[in-house]
This record gives sequence, structure tokens and C-alpha cells, in this order.
Amino acid sequence: MKLTVLGCYGPYPKAGGACSGYLIEDENTKILIDCGNGVLSKLLTICNDLNKLDAIILSHLHPDHMSDLMVLRYAIYIKQMLGRMERSIPLYLPANPQEDYERIQYNGVFTRNIIHDATEININNMRITFRKTNHPIECYAMAFEKNGKKFVYSGDTKYFDGLIDFIRGSNLFLCEANILHKDLTDNVPHLSAKQASEIALNANVKRMILTHFLPDINTLDIANEAKEVFPYILEMAEEGKCYFI
Ligand SMILES: [Zn+2]
Ligand SMILES: [Zn+2]
Repeated sequence: MKLTVLGCYGPYPKAGGACSGYLIEDENTKILIDCGNGVLSKLLTICNDLNKLDAIILSHLHPDHMSDLMVLRYAIYIKQMLGRMERSIPLYLPANPQEDYERIQYNGVFTRNIIHDATEININNMRITFRKTNHPIECYAMAFEKNGKKFVYSGDTKYFDGLIDFIRGSNLFLCEANILHKDLTDNVPHLSAKQASEIALNANVKRMILTHFLPDINTLDIANEAKEVFPYILEMAEEGKCYFI
């Protein structure tokens, strides 16, 4: 599998950057994970033909994970009208908040499939499973498994023990680390770099990429905090960069 980071900021981007968006591919599959602001433009630079997208999966419906979906639906609709796309795109997402869920559909451009805790789907023999996270709105971490390899994306979350079991056995863990531990309060619905590292360490995962950076925090500080806990392969997500699993 190949992971391309399209956007790695949240809940707003730095200048020239994009919020959450990732493309996971293998030889015959392309799946867009999250579609935050700025992601469509970045996606089109590496996948100009939207017919090639097998599916879109949204971890949750916060704007930094789905706002470009509202623009992507115009692109799909217009391409359908011009005869350049025939099918709707399968979209997997939580059904809450209901108002946001209802707003997404537009002239039938998406085939919506609702994610629940422990949902399991199969796209071109890629097995995808979900685990509900601890976030103010319904949100899911997701695991992608194919040919004996496992990749897990945390979605957005506060610390919860269940994430450790869910990521166990993964070859690569893409985890949000939005904040430094010293700034973490009960009101922050995210993981600190320290917490992300502790989760990976406790699950015996040996390779982690941190993401969902707050533009006001230096990612070097995030990296240094994580390194104090996590002794294995650690990278900071970079937009446009590919990672092989
Ligand atoms: Zn977010
Ligand atoms: Zn969120």
C-alpha cells in the first residue's frame, strides 16, 4: 500500500497548506481518506481523473475533515453532466451530526454508506475496519489491511485505551498529535504528541507518522516531545510526500 499525505493541518491550515486529507493506494485501488479544506486541489495534482477514485471515507464531519467534499461534489456533478463520469462515488461516513450528513448529498453524486463502530468493508480485497474514537462528534479511527500489511489512521481523538488494541499489529500508524502535552486540557479534543507516542509504544507499533498539526505550534517541538517516548521510526507528515507500507 502507498499513502500520500494531501493535507496535514487542523483545524485550519498554515499558509499554502491543507487540512486533513490522505490518499491510500495499491496497484488497483485508490481511496481518499478525509477531504478537508485544500485537499481537492492537492488531490488533483496527483489524481486528475476522479473516475479513478474507488471510494471516499470520512473519519467525521468536522469541517477540517470534510469541507472540500462540498466542492468535490460540484466537480463530480459537472463531470457527470459533461459525460466524463458515469457513476456516483461510494462515500463512507458517520451519520452524525445529522444536519451535516444530510447537507453532503448533492444530485446523487455520492452513494452514501453509514459507518458504525466495528463496521467492516471490503474494497478490491482491501479490508477496512472502524473504531469509534473519543471526540465531540461521532468519529472513527480506521484500519486498512491487505496482503498481510496493516495501516491505521487515528482520525481525531482524545486519549482512549481502545485505540491501543485497534492499532496492534499495524505496520504504519498515522496518528493525530495536535498539541504539546503541557498545553493539553480537558477541553482539547485531541492527542498530545506524548499521548500519541504512548499509544503506539503500548501497542508495540514500530513506525508512526504524526499529523493534524496546529499551525501555531512548531512541528519540531511535536517531534521532540514524541521522540522522548517513542524510540522507533517516527516521521512528521509532509504534504505531497508518499509513504510505503
Ligand atoms: Zn480535525
Ligand atoms: Zn475533529
